[in-house]
Amino acid sequence: MEIVFMGTACAAAGRDRDNTSLLLRGGSSSTMIDIGGNPLGKLKKLGMGTGEVARLVLTHRHIDHIYGLPSLLWGMWLDGRAKPLDIYCDHGDRKWLEDWICKLGMTDWPASFETVIRTYAWEQPSVLISDSDMVLSVFPGRHAVPTVGIKVEHHGRVAVYSSDTELNPAIKAMNHIDLLIHEATTARVPLASHSSLQEIIQYYDWTAIRRLALVHLTDSEPYDEVFAEVTPYIRSRMKLAQDLESELL
Ligand SMILES: [Zn+2]
Ligand SMILES: [Zn+2]
Repeated sequence: MEIVFMGTACAAAGRDRDNTSLLLRGGSSSTMIDIGGNPLGKLKKLGMGTGEVARLVLTHRHIDHIYGLPSLLWGMWLDGRAKPLDIYCDHGDRKWLEDWICKLGMTDWPASFETVIRTYAWEQPSVLISDSDMVLSVFPGRHAVPTVGIKVEHHGRVAVYSSDTELNPAIKAMNHIDLLIHEATTARVPLASHSSLQEIIQYYDWTAIRRLALVHLTDSEPYDEVFAEVTPYIRSRMKLAQDLESELL
């Protein structure tokens, strides 16, 4: 499975970064995790059609994680999509999401496909998708609004996406992570509801985590200064993710 960084910026989009979102590019279908920036343009750069996106999982309803949805739905209609699009969100956000989609006027276009809202309870870990390709589950984040992190298991390997969060004991408790995708809104400065690179390095157990890709990045933060303070071995396993780069799981 390929995990594509569709965007890697913090809430205020960067000069060369769209807001943070991911694409799990699987064999038969793909899953978007959050959606911002220019999803149609990014899919084109990947040589993909909107029809390959089976579902969308929203980790929380902050604008930087959701605002690409109207554009994606519009593009799917223009592409003549017929199959339903599953959209996962927290149970507390169902009504809000239904109202928003209604206001987009999909029934007036009229849209050629259905949006199916599926909910999880952010407070409890739960499995959202389980098929031959992957098991995707959510676990509680530590953010200003109800938020989940994402765990993806694929052929015995594990990727975890923190979403927006303070340091999360639920991630620290996992005994093996092949790829941790963690937000690092700042390099050093503590910020409520978020994490700094320095805190991440000090808090997590690097014997349990093989690789770290940092997202939700802020332009001009001195990440390299913090990297310079860790051992070369630890440093070699960490990177600042770039838009449209991908990692294999
Ligand atoms: Zn965010
Ligand atoms: Zn947020």
